[in-house]
Amino acid sequence: MTERLYRDDPYRLEFDATVVARRRHRDRPAVVLDRTAFYAESGGQPWDTGTLDGASVVAVVEQEGEILHVLDSPVTDDRVHGRVDGPRRLDHMQQHHGQHLLSRALVEVAAARTVSFHLGAEDVLVDLDRLVSDDELRRAETRANEIVWQARPVTVRIVTPAEAESLLATPIGRLHGAPAPDERAQARSAHALAEAGNAVRLVEAAGFDLQACSGTHPRSTAEVGVVLVLAQERYKGGSRVRFVCGHRALGAMRRRLRALDELGAVLSAGLAELPQAARRLREQLHESDRRGRELLDRALEGEARRLLAEAGSLPAVVARAFDGWTPADLRALAGQLVALAPCVALLGSRAGKAHLVFAQSEGMTHDIGALLREALTLVGGRGGGRGNLAQGGGDRVEGLDEALAKAELAVRTRANRP
Ligand SMILES: [Zn+2]
Repeated sequence: MTERLYRDDPYRLEFDATVVARRRHRDRPAVVLDRTAFYAESGGQPWDTGTLDGASVVAVVEQEGEILHVLDSPVTDDRVHGRVDGPRRLDHMQQHHGQHLLSRALVEVAAARTVSFHLGAEDVLVDLDRLVSDDELRRAETRANEIVWQARPVTVRIVTPAEAESLLATPIGRLHGAPAPDERAQARSAHALAEAGNAVRLVEAAGFDLQACSGTHPRSTAEVGVVLVLAQERYKGGSRVRFVCGHRALGAMRRRLRALDELGAVLSAGLAELPQAARRLREQLHESDRRGRELLDRALEGEARRLLAEAGSLPAVVARAFDGWTPADLRALAGQLVALAPCVALLGSRAGKAHLVFAQSEGMTHDIGALLREALTLVGGRGGGRGNLAQGGGDRVEGLDEALAKAELAVRTRANRP
């Protein structure tokens, strides 16, 4: 059984230990030590990283009652010196203790209980058993920060399961309206984790929160720095709240400030005017789009009239290739052509690849789909359609003119048939 040094002193980052067993974990070497300052992943808190002699500790996991220090390379000596990565440990203490404070504040403010907790690489998640309003969430955030700034002592107690049940049911829990049964269940699950099989570890933020927890916590609530709620969403009938504490909160604010500064420079607007400036820009964009479509329609109608005039007798056959036109523009022109006069439109475009749009006016009887499929064989493409409109494209741009010429010939031959 490994002695867990972090339980008594979460600030201890260096230690000497003896290797008591050597294992493999997912193709990597792993060792079991007689004592360790490394936290093994559990209860929503990730493992510590660091080094054992010259090897990097890439994971610390509990497996079949053993704490495995998973290494990137083997250690040879039986006596090893361990170093825990300090910034990562501090980060986990800030986030995890911040979670205790926010969860308690949510019980106090909104009678919302935390049903799960996940300390992620970016932010921290808690899932609540009820949906909380934005206002409740802001009040809970404020309350948690008040407790941080009051620098209340944080202490750890080891008690029996029976003591844990009565402690969690009475002083702080009941005072702040937390129902006892959940916390009894929590005490039992912590009990299940307790190494001696008969001890529960309680973490207390003086006069505010008491929880069964195996994680690493700071000496004072002040070390959490700040609790910053980022977002909430509906989740399984309750709320999922995303937040960050301490240095992560500083980083999150800096990223947001940088983004807002850039937006302000782009939109030439101060912070308070940004939303209005963005809305105005979007409206202008919509108006420009609408105006652009209107002008395009007019231009295409003019082009359609010109092409029909050139084609002469009706029903007309218009076969034409354009450079750089999008399939949408080809469709729009084809639409204008077949609407203005009885007509077969055989349109193509060279825009990176070859695009084809074939159409005919209502009441005409050419097999537009078959014409297109035939044409596509010459541009190396596929596509289809039925009725009066068909479209497709292929990579052989050089085959486009021939494809259009053949389609035109087929239409004219059929039309001239007596
Ligand atoms: Zn905890």
